Amino acid sequence: MVALVFPALPTVTLAVTGRTERFPVRRIFCVGRNYAEHAREMGADDKEPPFFFTKPADAVVETGSRIPYPPATANLHHEGELVVAIGKSGAMVAEEDAPNLIWGHAAGNDLTRRDLQAEAKASRRPWDMAKGFDKSAVVGPIRPGQLPDAALRCSVNGAIRQEARTSDMIWTPAAIIAALSRMVSLSPGDLIFTGTPAGVGPLGRGDTCKVEIDGLQSATVTVA
Ligand code: MN
Repeated sequence: MVALVFPALPTVTLAVTGRTERFPVRRIFCVGRNYAEHAREMGADDKEPPFFFTKPADAVVETGSRIPYPPATANLHHEGELVVAIGKSGAMVAEEDAPNLIWGHAAGNDLTRRDLQAEAKASRRPWDMAKGFDKSAVVGPIRPGQLPDAALRCSVNGAIRQEARTSDMIWTPAAIIAALSRMVSLSPGDLIFTGTPAGVGPLGRGDTCKVEIDGLQSATVTVA
């Protein structure tokens, strides 16, 4: 037993559909521009290879949570996304072997300080403070197993803002895992936000944002 100068914080965990045991979160990776229409709405090419950014594990927010309006922004945006939960280690994984690394799936919301992201892009600085802020990773319960093509919807106060199918992704989850595993060694507990479709938009105080993916429990957050 290692003696610590102060107690370590507990591991971040997520609920699992149909199980009492929880999923321990290690790292959070996110894919940028993975739906052609969203890439175009952000003024980008839709045929670039996948690129990645990260959020800290303790940015995780469980479904049903109320979060404060984040500091340092006047333009908080929702991004409804499919989240892939990794259950096995892997590096330099071939695309055909990538599904073996998947433990399960969840609905997620990649909350974004869009004004800070625009400033970062304009000044060629990192996205970290636009993407990896406190309580920026809303994740629903993880459902074990594979997920066939599914409809994804993101609504704000009941009005649909984003609607797509997971098969609309430019890079499939298997292709994303293969590409990411050439950058870093993946480990059990890693989460991958797989990108958002068109229709991103602002969330204000009092808004409730719900991300639904067929076959999965929803990921809901209310901005207090
Ligand atoms: Mn995103």
